[in-house]
Amino acid sequence: KIKLDRVEKTFDTFRAVRGVSLNIESGELVALLGPSGSGKTTILRMIAGLEYADAGHIYFGEQDATEISVANRGVGFVFQHYALFPHMTVAQNIAFGMKVSKTRRSKDEINLRVAELLDLMRLKGLGERFPAQISGGQRQRVALARALAVDPKVLLLDEPFGALDANVRRELRRWLREIHDELGITTLFVTHDQEEALDLADRVVILREGEIVQHGSPYEICRHPNSAFVTRFLGDAN
Ligand code: ATP
Repeated sequence: KIKLDRVEKTFDTFRAVRGVSLNIESGELVALLGPSGSGKTTILRMIAGLEYADAGHIYFGEQDATEISVANRGVGFVFQHYALFPHMTVAQNIAFGMKVSKTRRSKDEINLRVAELLDLMRLKGLGERFPAQISGGQRQRVALARALAVDPKVLLLDEPFGALDANVRRELRRWLREIHDELGITTLFVTHDQEEALDLADRVVILREGEIVQHGSPYEICRHPNSAFVTRFLGDAN
């Protein structure tokens, strides 16, 4: 379980995140949805430990996140532009995190895990290819496999399907849902795409100018938008 308690982040004089409080239950699939510049990425980066909150607290379970190093938070990430290593094969890319992580694994263990992940991600037979030799959708699946390789407790996805065309996005969405349901891993993903958030998430958190304006199940949000902003923003999808 992750808890944000009145978290603030200011860059120079710009308040990017303004008093955000949020609970994410174990195993939940939550979307952070909002227009560009609403603070979504900054929130994700603070949870990951790549950015510090100026005020407020982030808890992993009972523990204050500032007491846990980035490596020990048990988070895996996928960023839209978090490119794969071009000079490594798909299998080497997936193995990379396991080689640098603190829990040492033998070569055989690593190979076995890579094979499992290739299977899980439906990338069988592509392990020896290089990133330039596979499609964009396959590359994002490799990025997800790499994030999952170290058995993270939390998966953070920043516009993971942003650069792909609509059909591939839809397919990956379905497939992310399946993976999530199968592994039960707590997942937080950022998107500015209303349809994606409503379609995929258990719970949607809508941000505007660094503040949460509404959160709830996709159904609640669609049925009872609490402001003109939310109505307008959801309306943009149609
Ligand atoms: P997008 O969908 O465009 O990625 P976002 O909702 O993820 O937007 P953030 O990336 O969190 O928004 O940025 C929130 C605001 O903070 C933006 O106005 C951005 O310009 C600003 N910002 C983010 N990072 C920095 C930084 N390192 N230095 C200065 N300003 C920053």
